[in-house]
Amino acid sequence: MLPSGVTVQDEQGHFLLVNDAAAAQLRISTGEPSGPASKELNRRRETGLELLRSGRPAVAEESVTSGEAKQVFLTVHRPVRIADRKLLLSSSADISEQKAVEDQLFRSAYYDELTDLPTRRVVERRANSLLQRDGTQGKFALAFLDIDNFKHINDYYGHAIGDALLVEVAKRLRLDLRDSDMLSRISGDEFILLLNPIQGEREVAEYIQFALERLRAPFFIDGSEIFASTSIGVSLYPDHGRSYDVLRQNADIAMYRVKNEGKGAAVFFDASMEREALARIKVEQALRLAILEKRFCCAFQPKIDIRTQDIKGIEALVRLRDDEGVIQAPGTFINLAVELGLIDELTHLVLAEIVKSIDLINETFGADTSISINVAAKQAGNPKFMRPFAQALEATGFPERFMIEVTEDAFVAKTHFQTEILPIFRKLGVGISIDDFGIGYSSLSALADITADEIKIDRSFITDIHKRPRSQGILRAIESLSEALGMTVIAEGLESFEELAYLQAATRIRYAQGFYFSKPIFLEELKPAIPIVSEARINLASRPLQENRPVYARADRYRR
Ligand code: C2E
Ligand code: MG
Ligand code: MG
Repeated sequence: MLPSGVTVQDEQGHFLLVNDAAAAQLRISTGEPSGPASKELNRRRETGLELLRSGRPAVAEESVTSGEAKQVFLTVHRPVRIADRKLLLSSSADISEQKAVEDQLFRSAYYDELTDLPTRRVVERRANSLLQRDGTQGKFALAFLDIDNFKHINDYYGHAIGDALLVEVAKRLRLDLRDSDMLSRISGDEFILLLNPIQGEREVAEYIQFALERLRAPFFIDGSEIFASTSIGVSLYPDHGRSYDVLRQNADIAMYRVKNEGKGAAVFFDASMEREALARIKVEQALRLAILEKRFCCAFQPKIDIRTQDIKGIEALVRLRDDEGVIQAPGTFINLAVELGLIDELTHLVLAEIVKSIDLINETFGADTSISINVAAKQAGNPKFMRPFAQALEATGFPERFMIEVTEDAFVAKTHFQTEILPIFRKLGVGISIDDFGIGYSSLSALADITADEIKIDRSFITDIHKRPRSQGILRAIESLSEALGMTVIAEGLESFEELAYLQAATRIRYAQGFYFSKPIFLEELKPAIPIVSEARINLASRPLQENRPVYARADRYRR
């Protein structure tokens, strides 16, 4: 326990008693109260006189700094009457430690521990106080910053480096701020920059552009050279809102636009973005509701052997029935579902639908066709989804019928997809297909490191292939590489007779998928047709069969 300081003063303010603890507090080194009076001592004497005159007790908090050390004392003064003398009895306790804890608590509420930047509360309060200035016509800007792909950086380099990067980003952003500006870290990799005052948009644009460039330069952290870009959305007061919440939200909307359009840039908010954001929220709500109500179904598109017209397999393509009953293709909702974390549930719904309709699938397409399910790249790298999904495939009792289609990004991403997740599926006999090959981030040479059974060449290469020598060259390269690696090649999006003719004549590609053979089909639509098998087969193969003969004749000119 810290010793209490005790002093007794008489009616003239003179000290009658000063114990050691009080002497130290009042910095009376001699312990001699009538010695050379320090400033502190005089001050205390004056206070004492005042309190004696008032006759009332008092409590005071005093801090004493000597050099680096700061001490805080809580002193209780109590006027007393002893043998007709009015005396002031004061006792003080050192509360420095409690104070330090309180300060710490205060700091952690208002300052971010990692970067030492003010927290969201502080910047909000600051903005609000600017908004409340009455009469002034001041303008200010609110910029919402988000580091691009920070999660990847964290996953790849580890959290320590991720943290160090945040600190460095904060430093670069803080470099040339004015006292009246404020930078705040509001969460993970998100910052808010309050620029105040400003003349107008142009000045802010220049400043932000400068900040963007500074953030684009590599960071050297712990021996690694790290490149990070940042997306920034900016709103201006008063043009884009008159409250902090609206300004923040609009800066956020603008930032979101940057994220969608390639990241690493800055834009100012404008009203059209708001309409877009509202529309997005509507779609989001509809999607959540649709998942809740399981308003999904699958369309199936066959993969055709282009020599025999046989159906090698089918691909399940999810469809959403919106609240007006209109069927929506996945282009309108898949990315959103991934973003909102709804995609896992959706994929399980697709599997459930397949299992439910397996008899009809077998009748329609044949009982030995493979069944492909699309899995988003983000899911593929996530063991939390992939392990249960593998179990669900196993539980169907026919896991070896399934293939999962993932885009090449899943293979290139620094996840454990190839090393840890793929083997689980292999063991079950589930096939792996690389979807949309050629448009992702991997290079042709990356194929060599990918272990897959099937490679689907993106439609963009197949469209008008007969007229495009460049695509033909790429196709040949993919073809020979896949052949060497033992992967089946499928041409996606085959729409025309000419495209088919080219494939048949000039390549060894055996399989194709596309509207030319069949659009994705709803099984219910086939139901009334009896017998189903032959109906479907005729349906799928009718056009190529009619046109096949001339194909081979004309195809000669494509032969290598
Ligand atoms: P994908 O896996 O590459 O599927 C092929 C897409 O091309 C399908 O579009 C199909 O209808 C369309 N298509 C097929 N043949 C032709 C053609 O000859 N011409 C043209 N223009 N298009 C053709 P869809 O059904 O709209 O699906 C789009 C994408 O949505 C799919 O591309 C796939 O990446 C994704 N997707 C579909 N279902 C699921 C799913 O259950 N889960 C996930 N994660 N993604 C899915
Ligand atoms: Mg696919
Ligand atoms: Mg595809």
